Amino acid sequence: MAERHKLYRFDYSTGKIVLKNKKCPRCSSVMAFHKSPLGRWQCGKCNYVEFTSEKR
Ligand SMILES: [Zn+2]
Repeated sequence: MAERHKLYRFDYSTGKIVLKNKKCPRCSSVMAFHKSPLGRWQCGKCNYVEFTSEKR
């Protein structure tokens, strides 16, 4: 519950910010991040969707 929004991780070897994959709260399989039209995480298994309140 005290988990912070640590969706991003800086990869020093590539100099890029990479997304950390979330796990589905329903079936605990790995969720995929979709950028458009709104940032959201979607589970490929049960289609659970979680929207992020990401600022641009
Ligand atoms: Zn799921």
